[in-house]
Amino acid sequence: MTTQTTEKHEFQAEVKQVLDIVVNSLYTDKEIFIRELVSNASDATEKLRHTQLTEKNIYEADKELEIYVQFDEENNTLTIQDAGIGMTREELVENLGTIAHSGSKAFLKALQESGEKNDNLIGQFGVGFYSVFMVADKVEVFTRTWKENGESLCWISDGSGSYEIKTIEGDEPRGTRILIHLSEDFKEFTKKERLETIINNYSAFIQFPIKLNDETLKTMGALWLKNKNEISDEDYKEFYKFQSKAFDEPQFWLHFNADAPLEINALLFTPSENMEGFGFGRMEPGVNLYCRKILIEADPKNLLPDWLRFLRGVVDSSDLPLNISRESMQDSSLVQKLNKLLTKRYLKQLEEKSNKEPEAYTNFWNKFGIFLKEGVTSDFTHRDQLLKLLRYESSYTKEGETTSLSDYLSRALDGQKEIYFLFGANRKALENSPYLEAFNSRNIEVLFLFEPIDEFVMNHGRSFEEKNFVSADSADIDLDAIKKVEQDESEEKLDEATEKSLCEFLKETLPEIKEISTSSRLTNSPAIIVNSDKMMTAQMKKMLKAMQKMDEMQGAETSIHLEINPKHPLIKNIAVLQSSNPDLAKLLSKQILETSKVSAGLIEDPSQLVEQNYKIMQKLSETMA
Ligand code: ADP
Ligand code: MG
Repeated sequence: MTTQTTEKHEFQAEVKQVLDIVVNSLYTDKEIFIRELVSNASDATEKLRHTQLTEKNIYEADKELEIYVQFDEENNTLTIQDAGIGMTREELVENLGTIAHSGSKAFLKALQESGEKNDNLIGQFGVGFYSVFMVADKVEVFTRTWKENGESLCWISDGSGSYEIKTIEGDEPRGTRILIHLSEDFKEFTKKERLETIINNYSAFIQFPIKLNDETLKTMGALWLKNKNEISDEDYKEFYKFQSKAFDEPQFWLHFNADAPLEINALLFTPSENMEGFGFGRMEPGVNLYCRKILIEADPKNLLPDWLRFLRGVVDSSDLPLNISRESMQDSSLVQKLNKLLTKRYLKQLEEKSNKEPEAYTNFWNKFGIFLKEGVTSDFTHRDQLLKLLRYESSYTKEGETTSLSDYLSRALDGQKEIYFLFGANRKALENSPYLEAFNSRNIEVLFLFEPIDEFVMNHGRSFEEKNFVSADSADIDLDAIKKVEQDESEEKLDEATEKSLCEFLKETLPEIKEISTSSRLTNSPAIIVNSDKMMTAQMKKMLKAMQKMDEMQGAETSIHLEINPKHPLIKNIAVLQSSNPDLAKLLSKQILETSKVSAGLIEDPSQLVEQNYKIMQKLSETMA
């Protein structure tokens, strides 16, 4: 083999960074480089099979699609060879010299996010091709592209700053052959038993025959096309880990086939960990699309709705036109049909789970409920099914326990026309909220919402079984149809004339207020700020306001509607003080407004509240002293 030309290249800075971490890592499971290289060989072979569908002229078109692993104890080398698409000169530079490709990019991102040199991340992400430098002194990549008039090339590097690309005279077979010169410490990777174990562990589901020095290893093949009763739970779990490169176990899975309206075999895994919850950033879809075992696209975007991006697995449909381009596939009506069917089936699985295994469902809800909430706010088609799956704490549940909307309605009182919710930071805050008084005194259940997205859920969900979602702080809640548990009519309220003059006094004293009214809903509190928009709570308005730009903010001020309790001693006293000690009456009125703002979650700057508090204390001490 004589070489014609040799080009020397520097690795891109990011690659150097990855290599540096990989080479110096004390990571103990060095064997993962085999998983990475075999999976690259498999990817390249999948791509070749896909290319064969659309391209007529393929170099060595009839070559068997097998993966070879060859060990050589004498020379301390290991070779991994495939008959896949191979690489052109540009592709070699692009794929093995820069970091445009997925595996190592994700690794770098996770590294930046976790902010440390984390050995464990090597295990998780594998760091693809570069992981080979954990065990190698030198690596040679011989490759021949599938394109008819391509070159036979060799890429060589020792994993330090640079690599070389040489042209090879004479023809390499199509595909890629990676010749690993193992360093002295890693002779173990030339031992047959060791290799067998590793490949069985990591590569049992590779779709192509794997030969270890001429002996074909047993592999599991396309699990999703097998009969369910031939598959053990262990097989499913292993397949999940293999296919999604996951390190958790699946929580549960859905394996189903259908003949009509589409021919489809699907295997959908629900992970046990929500990686977004761990701060790993937004998840990418992870369900691969196959047609009769041929990978059409890894992780296509439109196969499932965005809010199901946490699902992993495989969908195989023989109805897919094989020669379709990836771009047109994304919006083909067939993919849309698949999307609909898969979503429906998955939601059905969740509903069944919630009925038959409520504990398992709660477990799921705690980790992935946020995605279903996102679904309610963004996916009108599945809204009704999704609403059934929501779970919330309520004034009826114990702390940490939740109720479904159906169960809520089953407990609704005669005459209750709406589903009530209240948003707050935590359960304690909500339980002590003055907004709850009217509901508690009538034994009406109120859902407790803790997460900002919940308000959007109520807002977009609008209603459940024809009962509207209504925030418990709304102005025009009419609870009069429902009797209070203990009707306390003995307490006297202000007469109409006094009430009127007090309202006028308050309006004058508190110009911030747009509207003022008296209310029968309060029992223990003197006043509350109510919300004139039924669907939108004060919190939500605040959030929307924060999202808008400054110039749009004018006029978006929350207009304040104060509701006072005419039975409350403090209110009755102010009515008297308004003429006998107007200064104190004014101070007290202002403080009532400020305090109501606290309950409504509208106070950002407590300084005014504090200042007034001192003024009142001073006034009181003056009268007492
Ligand atoms: P990833 O597989 O996540 O893309 P890798 O580091 O494992 O990242 O591989 C980098 C890229 O190098 C691949 O995306 C692929 O384009 C190319 N590559 C690696 N191995 C092979 C191979 N055996 N045949 C063809 N291309 C390969
Ligand atoms: Mg890879």
